Amino acid sequence: MNSDTLEKMYERLGICDAVYHFGQKTEEKLKERFAVIDENAEYNQLKVIHAMQKNRVCAEHFSGSTGYGYNDDGRDTLEKVYADTFHTEDALVRPQITCGTHAIALALFSNLRPNDELLSISGKPYDTLEEVIGIRPSRGSLAEYGVTYAQVDLLENGDFDLEGIRAAINERTRIVTIQRSKGYQTRPTLSVDKIGQAVDFVKSIRPDIICMVDNCYGEFTELMEPTDVGADMMAGSLIKNPGGGLAPVGGYIVGTKECVENAAYRLTSPGLGKEVGASLGILNSFYQGFFLAPTVTAGALKGAVFAANIYEACGFHVVPDSSESRHDIIQAVELGTPEGVIAFCKGIQAAAPVDSYVTPEPWAMPGYDSDVIMAAGAFVQGSSIELSADGPIKPPYAVYFQGGLTWQHAKLGILMSLQKMYEAGLVKLPQ
Ligand SMILES: *Cc1c(COP(=O)(O)O)cnc(C)c1O
Repeated sequence: MNSDTLEKMYERLGICDAVYHFGQKTEEKLKERFAVIDENAEYNQLKVIHAMQKNRVCAEHFSGSTGYGYNDDGRDTLEKVYADTFHTEDALVRPQITCGTHAIALALFSNLRPNDELLSISGKPYDTLEEVIGIRPSRGSLAEYGVTYAQVDLLENGDFDLEGIRAAINERTRIVTIQRSKGYQTRPTLSVDKIGQAVDFVKSIRPDIICMVDNCYGEFTELMEPTDVGADMMAGSLIKNPGGGLAPVGGYIVGTKECVENAAYRLTSPGLGKEVGASLGILNSFYQGFFLAPTVTAGALKGAVFAANIYEACGFHVVPDSSESRHDIIQAVELGTPEGVIAFCKGIQAAAPVDSYVTPEPWAMPGYDSDVIMAAGAFVQGSSIELSADGPIKPPYAVYFQGGLTWQHAKLGILMSLQKMYEAGLVKLPQ
């Protein structure tokens, strides 16, 4: 296909000439960057295939179980595939883990006992975990069970505060938790390398402390995962990277045999653990999604890098910036005005394969202190490995953007966001 017809196709979808050409010019400059992302995906693709081959994955594994789910070989083999991919002793990968918050809560509740202390060394954790821990008083929190919480913030430059960590560790410290992704904060995302150094430091003080990583949005963005550099336990959501866009629900915990067993006894029941839990009909999507996850994540990463380069060139502050290395798939763009945030989200929505005709509007949301606008046209409700964006309507009027099951869709979404900004006179395209 020559570029004329591609341009026409974009025009049919509502992208004007000027936006299209700026997009093409930007993409051209990113060739080398994208090649590195593809190489990373190639390595991770082989890693997943190797784990599937080693565990002799076969068609019978997709059939699923009902009721108690005894002897569900497909479920048990999938857990071995996860464990081998992430180089851990064991794994718990279940549709009964409802979301990322649940996976992390499960990892914490099952491995902490009354009078233990949980220590976060990457500052304030993700919003939904505040109620899990009891930072915001909440029914059923760890605090209610007599688990205390301490926190060491990252240094100004984003590094771990080693002296602060040393001072915060005491004889009650049972789990040290690290959040890899910045989530909706402006601090940098932590690289696996950096996480490994922090784990080594904690272990040098007290080797029996469990080091756990919230790995949400981080899977397959690098060659290694936190469990390759000493983390004892890692948790995440299957409607983010490792579900590859196909998993309709679920979460995972991987780690040492003891940590994962504890989680299984809490998820189901003491005595039952991993032996029960029907997989119903979801295993095919879990396997196939995991198989696709490295390349899906690569598409989302390219989208994030592309967005940073587009919006930085237009004069907006972007986090991470256009050239920074990536350790998760989230891109923040500070648009500076409520109109900018709204136009951006309208563009993402208009580019979706599902619900493209819907107009997102800012709205009051539980847990937020300002109106929030959200854009998503997803095959799986709330899936954020699919192209999605959201922004609180308050300064600095930043929008958080992530996902895209294919690079081509992510590109369309970003161009469409720019198109809406351009039409509203909110952006000047660089010459
Ligand atoms: C998404 C996310 C969570 C919570 O996951 P949910 O599936 O939304 O419950 C926790 N931590 C981080 C860093 C996340 O990005």
